[in-house]
Amino acid sequence: MDDVVRSARSCEPIPLSLARPRRTRQGVVAWGGHRVTVGGGAPVRVQSMTNTDTADAVGTAIQVKELALAGSELVRITVNNDEAAKAVPYIREQLDRMGVDVPLIGDFHYNGHRLLTDHPACAEALSKYRINPGNVGRGDKGDRQFAQMIEIAARHNKAVRIGVNWGSLDQDLLARLMDENAGRTEPWDARQVMYEALITSAVESAKRAEHIGLDGNNIFLSCKVSAVQDLIAVYQALAQRCDYALHLGLTEAGMGTKGAVASTAALSVLLQQGIGDTIRVSLTPQPGEARTQEVVIALEILQALGMRAFVPSVTACPGCGRTTSTTFQELAKQIDDYLRASMPVWRARYPGVESLKVAVMGCIVNGPGESKHADIGISLPGTGEAPAAPIFIDGKKAMTLRGAGIAQEFQTIVENYIEKRFGTPA
Ligand code: SF4
Repeated sequence: MDDVVRSARSCEPIPLSLARPRRTRQGVVAWGGHRVTVGGGAPVRVQSMTNTDTADAVGTAIQVKELALAGSELVRITVNNDEAAKAVPYIREQLDRMGVDVPLIGDFHYNGHRLLTDHPACAEALSKYRINPGNVGRGDKGDRQFAQMIEIAARHNKAVRIGVNWGSLDQDLLARLMDENAGRTEPWDARQVMYEALITSAVESAKRAEHIGLDGNNIFLSCKVSAVQDLIAVYQALAQRCDYALHLGLTEAGMGTKGAVASTAALSVLLQQGIGDTIRVSLTPQPGEARTQEVVIALEILQALGMRAFVPSVTACPGCGRTTSTTFQELAKQIDDYLRASMPVWRARYPGVESLKVAVMGCIVNGPGESKHADIGISLPGTGEAPAAPIFIDGKKAMTLRGAGIAQEFQTIVENYIEKRFGTPA
């Protein structure tokens, strides 16, 4: 027995975090005086994409604003035709007028070389171009069209993401790698050839872009696939082969819980390993669901990993047979909704409020203990307990609430705490 106990102990303290540091080049995506640093130790940035028709400048500007207010630090918009390209400067203008300085990324496929050439105001209003090497054309024509876009980006001092996707892989490159594989004495699995094609396409395109004249710090890469294990394998290899900042996302992640869980699983593994400088959760919105849901999930991933803080966190127990009423569920939701809804205003008024920790617990078993670990906690009475809810502030029991107005009283206590701790002294 003693041997078992001894072997279970170590003389070394357990590390506080197993997250690995990142080592990439650092680039900047800027608009006006607003600069978003990417890579090289900067915080992992949250990106999103609109699903409006970009030619609808007003509708697109409104959705970009919603995504930015939800916490998206970069927003991508489709630029697929002349109408969309013409609308881009107006979208930018409307955002500037509304005080929304989020950088815009133009998503180009097939005709980006022509749109950026024919619409210089669009090329200027965008802060970054996303170029898919699989969709720029084939052979010499493709090379010329790719070079044309890179030259425009270099001339306007814009960042570029070389965004490879397995759904639109460079077919010439894939054919070349398959031929090479056929000549191996022990041919690779077809999926390994596909991994290699994704990475080679991204890295070779980036090297060409640098050769053409684009600043290597402002080149970001992505290799998106739609299966979790494929994404992890590809990005682990990609991170070893280059030091460009990497954009992470599980493409076509799916709808609802499936999309959220698959994205979280894939991104968390990679982020923990120090891989990923910007992230996007490619969620298919459920009917009636806000587009901002993809931003909410991306923020939650980074916050859950302890990499960034965006909104005060609410720790709530799952409830069990000791909580036969829904009071604590309702209170946890009410407080969570209230904190989230207040953040657009609080961000400026209460610097640091995003690190606040609130606990809403269902009974005496873990309620007081968990509440003491939070900045403010409430331990609601479980079934059969006295109808009283002790409040803990900064680890100490501060008061006990009773009666029907507990929810409102607790919210007021939270508000007062925030004002006192994060408000600017008069
Ligand atoms: S704190 Fe109480 S109510 Fe909540 S899960 Fe634990 S035992 Fe159940």
